[in-house]
Order: sequence, then C-alpha cells, then structure tokens
Amino acid sequence: MKKISNLLLIVGLLYGCSLNLPLYSKTFKSHHLTDGTFKNNYLDSIDKPFSELLKWRWNRVNPEPVAFTLAENDPSFLKKNLTEPTLTWIGHSTVLLQFEGFNILTDPHMTQRASPVSFAGPKRFMKPGISIEELPHIDLIVISHNHYDHLDRLTIEKIYQKQKDQPPKIYVPLRQKRWFNALDITNVVEMDWWEEQEFEVWKIHAVPVQHWSSRSPWDRNEVLWAGWVLEHPKFKFFFAGDTGYSKDFIDLARKFNGFDLSAIPIGAYAPRWFMKQSHINPEEAVRIHQDINSRYSVAIHWGTFILTDEPVDEPPKKLKTALAKNNIPNENFFLMQHGETRSLKFLLR
Ligand code: ZN
Ligand code: ZN
Repeated sequence: MKKISNLLLIVGLLYGCSLNLPLYSKTFKSHHLTDGTFKNNYLDSIDKPFSELLKWRWNRVNPEPVAFTLAENDPSFLKKNLTEPTLTWIGHSTVLLQFEGFNILTDPHMTQRASPVSFAGPKRFMKPGISIEELPHIDLIVISHNHYDHLDRLTIEKIYQKQKDQPPKIYVPLRQKRWFNALDITNVVEMDWWEEQEFEVWKIHAVPVQHWSSRSPWDRNEVLWAGWVLEHPKFKFFFAGDTGYSKDFIDLARKFNGFDLSAIPIGAYAPRWFMKQSHINPEEAVRIHQDINSRYSVAIHWGTFILTDEPVDEPPKKLKTALAKNNIPNENFFLMQHGETRSLKFLLR
C-alpha cells in the first residue's frame, strides 16, 4: 500500500511539473527559504544594495504635494448602512468596503506619518477621508504587508481600543501575528499564500504578489507579504496590496474565475530602475486588471504620501492614458476622490 502511494506521489509530482501547473496547486512552498525568510515566486528577493538606495536618494528632491479635493462623506449613513454596498477611499491603500452589513478595511492608515517615529518620515499631505472616530464598526481588516504606509500601529491600536468589546478580526500574512500579539491584539489570523479561511459567509484567501517586507534594517523578508481575495456568495473582491508586475496574476486568474472589484495600486513607481520590481506603474496596473479578469477596479496607493519621484498627480493621468490605449472605459478602472463614498450597486449582478 505504502509503495503504491509513494509511486502515486512521484507520478503526481512528475506529472504536475510536466503540466506546468500554477503554483497554488504545487505541494511544496518554494517561497519559504531555509533561513526563515521569504522570497517571491518569479523573482528572488528584492534586495537592492545600499549603494543603489544611495544612488537614488542622493540629491533627490521630493515632488511637490498637490491639494486634491477632499470629498464629503456621511459617517452617520456609513454607521447605520446595512444594505447598500459601498466603497469609501480613505486614502492611500485604505478603503472601507461595506457589503451586506459587513464593514471591511484594507491596510488601515489614518494617522500623520508612514514612519516608525512620530516626528519624521513621510507625512501625509492629504488627510484621511474619514477619521477613526467616524468609522463604522469594523468587522474585518486585511493587512497586505508590514511597510509603514500599510501597517500603522497607531491606527490599529485606536481602532482596537474603540472596539474593545467587539474587536475586528484581522487577517495578516504569515509571521505578522506576533507583532499584533505584542500589542495585546489577539483577534488575528495569519495566513500563507493560497491558504483559505472562513469568516461568516466570506472566504478569505491570502494570495502571492511580488513585493518584500521590513520594519527595520534587520528584518528584511522575515514576515510574508500578500494580496487578499475576499469572496462573498454575491461578490468577489481582490486587494492587491503593494506589488510589482509578475506572473502571479496569471496564477490568480487561473484559480479565481474573475473578480467583481479589485483595488490595484497605481502610484509610487518612479524611478523605474529602482521601483519596477516592487511597485507597478499605471500601465502595469491596467495589465493586471486585464490579467485577472476584473470587471471593475479602483485605483489606490497614490496621492496621499510622497514616497517616490513621480509628480503626485501623474498616476491618475497615466492611468487614463493606459486605459484609452487598451480601449477600457474609465468607469471600469475608476479613480476616487479622497474621502469619496461610492455606491457599488452598479456591480451587483
Ligand atoms: Zn510596500
Ligand atoms: Zn506602499
């Protein structure tokens, strides 16, 4: 019996390899390295030498901030809304998604700086579209990775404090849980790529994207990074987090049969020689929108913090150009104003 199962395993592995099956169906975890760190599926670690960082940062002048219009929203409506599907862009990669009574936040960052310290580091030039106090009760939070513009300790602590009696469930990539536990935040689930968990009627999937992680010079790639697929019986949402362009999106398309809505980053891409591996530009964002067969996408990760060299109002312009080039209507990959709430009724089938 044992011989037969061994034989089946060997045949299965050989057959699987020869068919070039997508990564999620392989039995080994090639992104786990023996030293305990993680790597990308289609690129070894994004580990630029310090000299390259210096070459970029030396004599660099920050682009000028732009005062975008902050849209008005209605926190009291958001607090009591149980029926209308809505999306509110709070800024950067933080969106509030409301669907059938569930309130979901992605990478919540609603404080002043994307930095380990409160007195220095990238400061937001557009204030959050809604304050923590005005937020409705949050049921679920997904965190893509631990960079300071995506994982903000103060925001997490304040939301947790505000909902002490009914804390949100927080989904994080592998090995990120201990960071939360150190803050006495325990309602946290950590997941590896291609793992799946149930949350009420939702299926939560952690999926690979091409990026890296670190909170200090000494912890590079010790914690995993991920995109998230949130699957409701009536609605499939993809949150890309932070990513470079890779074949991971072809794998994603093979596993999920398209998405109703995807939140895809369009900013923090210049200079390309330094950023390309870890940050897509608007053209690549459109390519991902097409690769994964998303009915609609919303642009995130722009116009909030100055992190890179492109003018802060360039990503939306380039997005429109890339959409026109691919004959995709602007409504299908839409931009939002900071703070804007949009009804998602139009995408219900
Ligand atoms: Zn990042
Ligand atoms: Zn980022």
